[in-house]
Amino acid sequence: MINWKEIDTVLLDMDGTLLDLNFDNHFWKEFVPLKFAEKQGLSATAAKQQLEPHFKSMEGKLEWYCLDYWSEILQLDIAALKAEISGLIAVLPHVTEFLEKLQQSSQKVLLVTNAHRDSLELKMEKTCLQPFFDGIISSHDLGFAKEHVQFWSLLQQQQPFEKHSTLLIDDSLSVLNSARLFGIVHLISVSKPDSKQPKKNVSDFPAIEDFRELMAGL
Ligand SMILES: [Mg+2]
Repeated sequence: MINWKEIDTVLLDMDGTLLDLNFDNHFWKEFVPLKFAEKQGLSATAAKQQLEPHFKSMEGKLEWYCLDYWSEILQLDIAALKAEISGLIAVLPHVTEFLEKLQQSSQKVLLVTNAHRDSLELKMEKTCLQPFFDGIISSHDLGFAKEHVQFWSLLQQQQPFEKHSTLLIDDSLSVLNSARLFGIVHLISVSKPDSKQPKKNVSDFPAIEDFRELMAGL
């Protein structure tokens, strides 16, 4: 799937790529509505119905990934709630082996995420993956979510990379599309970002179910 000799920079997404999206899905679809319902004196179903369209309307926007924004809007301490169920944070199968292999090879490895710094720190603390990266970039520091082409151009200014020899692995198709628009050549999607959900059909990009598929030749 990848000729590793052609790659000198690897950009890796965090949630749904390296980490099980089950944590985030459970957090936003179950735990936050439940806490919101308790606070507002609503039923869990009513809370879900009220929150769903709001969440939907914010997808792909930087605020969607901003814990401060949601803390303000929902009047809940979102960072504290994340910490409360942090036991669910998990690394996807074969990710650690892949990162160990990458570490032994010559490629520059950057974690590139839309996660807010608070969320990022919690996840790095829980998973101990931080030492595998040559740099960790949160889109909040650049002012654009990865779904925007501007993100990639600002990233390139901060962490110089060649478009033709860079590989991005990300479970979000809108992120892969913006990277493609910017000109990054090697793009791979993830067909099983959430261990508790069925495999997704991905048609626009080559997709891996787990990282064993990328280890040949590395
Ligand atoms: Mg992701």
